Amino acid sequence: MIGVAVLGSTGSVGLSTLDVIDRHRDRFRVAALTAHRDVEGLFRQCCEHHPSLAVMADEAAAHKLEKKLKQSGLKTEVRAGSAALREAAESPEARYVMAAIVGAAGLESALAAARAGKRVLLANKEALVMAGRIFMEAVREGGAELLPIDSEHNAVFQCLPAGYRPGTWPRGVRRILLTASGGPFRGWSPEQLAQVTPKQACAHPNWSMGRKISVDSATMMNKGLEVIEACWLFDTTPARVQVLVHPQSVVHSMVEYDDGSVLAQLSNPDMRTPIAQALGWPDRLEAGVEPLDVLQRGRLDFEPPDPDAFPCLRLAMQAAETGGGAPVVLNAANEVAVAAFLEGRVPFTGIADLVARALDRLASNPADALEEVLALDRLTRGTAEAELTSFA
Ligand code: NAD
Ligand code: MG
Repeated sequence: MIGVAVLGSTGSVGLSTLDVIDRHRDRFRVAALTAHRDVEGLFRQCCEHHPSLAVMADEAAAHKLEKKLKQSGLKTEVRAGSAALREAAESPEARYVMAAIVGAAGLESALAAARAGKRVLLANKEALVMAGRIFMEAVREGGAELLPIDSEHNAVFQCLPAGYRPGTWPRGVRRILLTASGGPFRGWSPEQLAQVTPKQACAHPNWSMGRKISVDSATMMNKGLEVIEACWLFDTTPARVQVLVHPQSVVHSMVEYDDGSVLAQLSNPDMRTPIAQALGWPDRLEAGVEPLDVLQRGRLDFEPPDPDAFPCLRLAMQAAETGGGAPVVLNAANEVAVAAFLEGRVPFTGIADLVARALDRLASNPADALEEVLALDRLTRGTAEAELTSFA
């Protein structure tokens, strides 16, 4: 039996992970679960999976959960706070850790899992964007096994030779072709984009995801974050990563080899496929995913992205080139801007404005050590929050 810790278990990726685990109860046991403050959600999961440890980032929520579990006679230990999130990631009962907390909040637990030498199933792309070098070092030093969950990076991994491990540029590869759906606003005019509502931005045409990544997909910041993620996973620069808009979201990415071969991974857009791939690897597991019917799909289209309509993509590419503190600033300002957009405090097009302003001011700061990364993350959040008043 393989113990699995699911960090961010009440989220979209977390739920899909538990769905796959559920299909293989002979193989996996849930060792630890974590959530922010969804007491009901985590309680239900504890009743279902009986983990040894349940962590809530929020203290008051943890107390409520503890009470409910006691009343139900469950023995799950409940802990609160960020140190406890790291403990869940290091849990001796868990050989595998799904890092599926959203945003910078997931960085330290993902790092802890890497340092503890786990099989790290990495969904939390923000960890690599903020601290790619530190994270990849932790993977090497901890002897961890890193498997990408982001569907594009998982697709690339699947197209690489057997025996390939993330952290080096794969032999014989010329380029990585990263596909993007283009989001719900592909082809919209700047005037239309200025009027976009949170509800529209969260209604992705192909994927069902958490709200933050849904907005990132709509601005195409998500693809920019993924270019940076790819650079760390596959040890390369943005010059070797080409973004292609592929509206059907069936080809999840491609790898071009020196001999002219292009390998692609195709499947229906369902996160249970990359999750099952990483849980089972090198075996293949039933994932509950609808088989892909290529005849019914009919056609696959590809087009170049439009960085004028989606300036977040350009900002992210620039931050990737600049390196240093730029990706930290990009990520933190984006998190603040997306949250403000979801609260109706800034227009959709204001997200790129806020990120651009933060980059102008702060991108030259260093971010080599973890303390510097965390300090720059905090500084950027403060600065971006202050900028929000200009939209009031
Ligand atoms: P989500 O919002 O649905 O879930 C986020 C999870 O993180 C929840 O369990 C929540 O309780 C927890 N969380 C949120 N804030 C927290 C905090 N401050 N402290 C501790 N826990 C906190 O998000 P999601 O869509 O599942 O995405 C999770 C991660 O996976 C993101 O980094 C996202 O970019 C990445 N990802 C998601 C998808 C997808 O299909 N949803 C695809 C690729 C990558
Ligand atoms: Mg993705």
